[in-house]
Amino acid sequence: MKSLSELRALPHTSVSAIKTFVQCPRKYRLNYVDKVEFAFRPIALAIGTVWHDVLGHWLGSATTGSAATPEELRERLRTGIEAAVNADGPPVLFDDAEQNLAGTIDLASRMLDAFLREVVLPEKTLGIEVPFSLQLSDPDTGELLPVPLVGAMDAIVIEGGCRMIWELKTAKQRYSADQLCYDLQSTAYRLGAHDDGPIDVDVKLIVVTKARAPVVQVERLKGGLQAERDLQATAASVLRAVAAGVDHPIRGWACRGCPVAHACR
Ligand code: SF4
Repeated sequence: MKSLSELRALPHTSVSAIKTFVQCPRKYRLNYVDKVEFAFRPIALAIGTVWHDVLGHWLGSATTGSAATPEELRERLRTGIEAAVNADGPPVLFDDAEQNLAGTIDLASRMLDAFLREVVLPEKTLGIEVPFSLQLSDPDTGELLPVPLVGAMDAIVIEGGCRMIWELKTAKQRYSADQLCYDLQSTAYRLGAHDDGPIDVDVKLIVVTKARAPVVQVERLKGGLQAERDLQATAASVLRAVAAGVDHPIRGWACRGCPVAHACR
């Protein structure tokens, strides 16, 4: 299997690209086709990247036999956020709740403490950021889609003697029942695991909320044939729409936090 960067260097689509198109076709075009430079980097993106790095380090310590200490993880989180915020490129835009660097580090530290209180290190970590490339087909016609869907599973672990995929998220609030039911990402993970092990692999979603008192939501996502069909139908429809030049704007609350709004006429 190629590395994620090698897969991304080839023509492909992704769950986030599909979700972007569904949210706003104009944003998709500006971001993925025109490749307009962002006016700012949302702080949520910076937190998400560092969060995965820190938890990846923690999960990696399951294999070495000496668990990373909370102090070590907090320090990695702090330096990671500082580096992300101070990196070259467009400035970071803070949310209302995280108005500055110190507040963001404080919030992320509380989230990490909550995570470590609630989540037990698995017996073994088989892989972190495991890349996959899915050749999807249109479920109605059977026609192969013109590009593969590429992504990376956050982690594959052995937990309770079973192989499982972990999906690690941060979010403003708990996932709703509908979000859990129709999570495209976990369906892609499950399909992505087909080439790398048993087909019937569970996905465990672990969400930590960005709140004054962070909540850790742990859910086992079973998926199913309907979810897989929905992912393929959505990907096929979006790729057809992109090829046809569909790029209308969807104006609304999301425009306020849109990093390509400066190019959206
Ligand atoms: S500003 Fe609004 S309409 Fe324009 S691309 Fe962004 S989300 Fe879409």
